[in-house]
Order: sequence, then C-alpha cells, then structure tokens
Amino acid sequence: MRIKPTPNSRRTFLKQTTVLAASAGAMWHTGSSQAKDVDMPNQAGPVIVSTWPFGKASNDEALRILQQGGSGLDAVEKGIWITEDDLSNSSVGRGGMPNAAGVVQLDSCIMSGPGHKAGSVGAIEGIRHPISAARHVMEKTKHVMLVGAGAREFALKEGLEAAEMPIEARRQDWLKWKAEQEKNAGKNHDTIALILLAPDGHLYGGCSTSGWAYKLPGRLGDSPLIGGGLYVDDEVGAAGATGLGENVLRYCGSFQVVSLMERGATPEEACLETIKKIARKDPKGADLSINFIAVDKKGRYGAAGSAAGFTYSVTTTTSSKVLTGVGLTAVDLGPIGGNRK
Ligand code: ASP
Repeated sequence: MRIKPTPNSRRTFLKQTTVLAASAGAMWHTGSSQAKDVDMPNQAGPVIVSTWPFGKASNDEALRILQQGGSGLDAVEKGIWITEDDLSNSSVGRGGMPNAAGVVQLDSCIMSGPGHKAGSVGAIEGIRHPISAARHVMEKTKHVMLVGAGAREFALKEGLEAAEMPIEARRQDWLKWKAEQEKNAGKNHDTIALILLAPDGHLYGGCSTSGWAYKLPGRLGDSPLIGGGLYVDDEVGAAGATGLGENVLRYCGSFQVVSLMERGATPEEACLETIKKIARKDPKGADLSINFIAVDKKGRYGAAGSAAGFTYSVTTTTSSKVLTGVGLTAVDLGPIGGNRK
C-alpha cells in the first residue's frame, strides 16, 4: 500500500517511530540534540549532497555543470568523475584498492528520477569512469546491471576509456598486505554517493567505489545495487550510502531511507531511523560502519552514521561545505528485531 504524504504525516511518522522504538525497548541517542529540518537557502537552486569531504570537489563540479545548463545526469556523472580521477583517493576509481588477488574491481550505479531509470556496473575492471559505464548501461541497453568481463567489454565497445590499475602505490600496499596476511582486510573502504535536486525540481544520483579493500574477487557491495547504495524516487527524494556494504545491502538501506521520507520523515530522521532499524536487528552499534545521506523533493537534506562523526558535503548556489551527520552514540539493545527473546 502506498502511503501518501499528508501535511500531518511527519507528526504521524514521529509518533509511530517513537512508539515502535519504545515497544522494541531499543532507543538510540543521537549525537545532536534533535533531528532537524535543514532548509535549502534557495528553493529554486540545486542542492547537491555527497558522502565524505572528498565529495565536495565533486559537488562543486556538479554545480558548475548545472550552472552551465547541463542536465542533472551530466552533473552527477561529471561530478563523480572528479573523485574517480583523484589518485590520492584509495577507495574510488583508478586509485582504488585492489581485491585479494591484486585486481581492482569497481562498482557503480546511477539513477534518474525522471522515468525512474537506473544503470549499474559491478566488479568492472580497467575502466577509468565506472559511473559513465553505469550511465551507458542505463541509456544504451535494455538492462539495469552488467558485471565483470561483460561490463568491461560493453564499456570498451561504448568507447569509454580504459585505465591501468592498480596504480603503483596501491600495488605496493597490496604486496605489503599479502605479506602481512589478512590483518588489514576490511579497514579501507569508502564510496562517493552523490545525490542532487536539480533546478528543474528533478532528482538524480550516482555512486562509485572500489569497495572493500582486499575483498574476495567477485564480491559486490551495496554500491552497484539499486536500493542498496543508492535510491532515487522523483516524487519523494534520494538517498545514498557509504560504509560496510554487507550491512547496507541486506536491508535495502537507501530504499528504506527514501521510503521513510515518503512517510513523512525529514532526510535526517530517515537516515537515522534506517540505521536504528538495522541496529535493532544487528546490534553491532558503531561497528556496523554504515552511513546514509539524503535529500528530499523540497531540497531539505541530512545524514546519519552508525558512529558519530560521519562527514558529508553539501553544495548549493550560495555555499559549499562539509557537515557532520548525526550518529548513534548509545543503545539499549533490548529485544532485537521483535523476534528475539
Ligand atoms: N559501501 C562500499 C562497499 O561496501 C564501501 C564504502 O562505502 O565504504 O563496497
């Protein structure tokens, strides 16, 4: 059943979630005093939100593209190019960390609010801009997702640029890791998820990552999965994720964030409530290592992490800044997921 947002739906949502949290006996406390609405300064301008401080350069490029009359999808794609080309970034694009076999396998997806279109590539090798490969899948094929060798072959046929990877510095890291066995596995991972409300009122998003450092070859995280690492609903809002993909994709995390916004939650409330819900089923607290960003149709935005201190970038026509999302700082685990005694 589709729950239509009503003027009172936010109040109802808050009432429902408070009752739910109380009845589950599980209450997280947020790092900030209260979840708050963050209104965009200029309702007519774009709002661009991305994960981590490195997203800011991508946001700035996305804004430049929009200001030059580019489309929302161009802004997402070309914005993400900046991070994919940053060789100092060891978790996105060419500079990304390899898998356990020393091979860089990249994940990416893109969504267009108008038409509810999506494209994705998983475990793609040797392609400079996986976000472009995802866009080509969306625009040039009847499919949504291509993986592995097929994705690479398709990208090359489409004329996308190949690139050598891992870069030498990452190969050296990998050799060290090999020597030290698996001690550092899972320590290095991040994603750029970039979502935006374009000046025309439509929503778009994309994400790109090399995933979990030294992952098993063939492993896909949340980032190529529509509804996992990214979800866009043009009537409601957009959300993206970063962190341990396994703890996001099992819950369709970004879909849940958008779904909560549809039921009246603000972006920040939706991000936080999604993490609470996951934490009730999997009580690892901060070790869940998951974070969400969201923007809604009104241009409000917000973010939350399973730990305090998740930083994200927000760019509008009047400012471009790095903010800190709310984090879960304490928990009374209580009965978990409603089915544990
Ligand atoms: N979500 C990504 C993955 O699990 C990594 C990250 O964002 O930290 O592949």
